[in-house]
Amino acid sequence: MHEKLLTKLRGGETAVWLKSAKADFFDAEAARADVAAAEIRWQRFAPALARLFDTPGGLGRINSPLSEYPASLPAPAPVYVKADHSLPITACVKARGGIFGLLCVIEKIAQDAGLLKEQETYAILADEPARRILAEHTVVVASTGNLGYSIGVAAIGFGMQAEVHMSDDAKEWKKARLRELGATVVEHVGDYTSTVSSARTSVAERDKTHFIDDENSWDLFVGYAGAGEELAQQLKQANVDVSVEHPLVVYLPCGVGGAPGGITYGLKSIFGDAVVCVFVEPVNSACVFVALACDGALKSVYDVGLSNNTEADGLAVSRASELVLNKVGKQIDAVVAVPDKSMTDWVGKAWSNAALRLEPSATAGFAALEPFLQAIDADVTSNGTRPALKNIAQGTHVVWTTGGDLMPEDIFQQFL
Ligand SMILES: *Cc1c(COP(=O)(O)O)cnc(C)c1O
Repeated sequence: MHEKLLTKLRGGETAVWLKSAKADFFDAEAARADVAAAEIRWQRFAPALARLFDTPGGLGRINSPLSEYPASLPAPAPVYVKADHSLPITACVKARGGIFGLLCVIEKIAQDAGLLKEQETYAILADEPARRILAEHTVVVASTGNLGYSIGVAAIGFGMQAEVHMSDDAKEWKKARLRELGATVVEHVGDYTSTVSSARTSVAERDKTHFIDDENSWDLFVGYAGAGEELAQQLKQANVDVSVEHPLVVYLPCGVGGAPGGITYGLKSIFGDAVVCVFVEPVNSACVFVALACDGALKSVYDVGLSNNTEADGLAVSRASELVLNKVGKQIDAVVAVPDKSMTDWVGKAWSNAALRLEPSATAGFAALEPFLQAIDADVTSNGTRPALKNIAQGTHVVWTTGGDLMPEDIFQQFL
């Protein structure tokens, strides 16, 4: 137990958990096979996505640019921004895992209905006969906001019905947008974890109803993982070499753990020990932090006296995904817990320095740079024994910005 770290969290202070120096086995080959299988499904669906949604170059792919941050940061330059806050369709990272989870559901419905015969292109999913069949089906999802928003928007785009269960952290504007699009929004008084469980119960008995579960979903997890290969190609194009001597350090905002966990799975399968994956959580919702600091024993943030109250609604989760902890818990190199104030401050800085339109959750990576690098400096043990951490000053640092480009102007002005 890391009692000192937990005390910091309870006091609302920044805290950094570092993995012990011990190397843990990771089956990179199996992970690469999982990611390759997911990529094939993305490719199959590209013609349908291209017809139904606005995607870069009309290619039907959900990907985001990598760019250099144009101002100085508390990390060795250059620092890159992986701009998932501008992903097509939903302008947040859920467009990867959430939409992938939805595509799995759609593929099953279409196959069962005999729509996708051998040789048939998935473009037919945008045609009337397929839409009539999909319209009979309802997708149900529980969310703190962005997952429900993303799956709702995409499901409606495919002509399906969407029922979105929102926890009490969810922002009004996300609910209002969904209702405008024709989704049913069900509001819950509890937090994310309790919202998921009541949504799950409510669909159990209903016909043609599909629950997309973020808490323990393999489909979402591998949907996110494809981002690893995408980043690898972008770094190659930018002539950035990644090795233990020049490690890649990624800063990943973390809620239930699916998005950062899936991305970690993809990146570790490509770069192994040369990538350092840093998860970032709000102090009050530091569920992965707590689980790892308590040696993997699954604990909620309430158990250690934290409130789960945060302005970073995309990260307001009290209990980490068990699937994520099982799959990549031992691969997470560090977890940084940051106070709300530092995230909301970064909303303004990222806008004035770089014209990045970010919601508070999406700035967590910036807020983590300084405390993480200080903790590495102070941590003689890991410096001495883990080569990638020893070489962190020669590393390439990538801040993953995970949402915000579609925020209404008045909401954004309030954050500024
Ligand atoms: C959901 C979300 C995350 C984190 O994803 P998890 O799978 O919940 O860990 C990060 N940033 C934003 C903006 C999100 O909406």
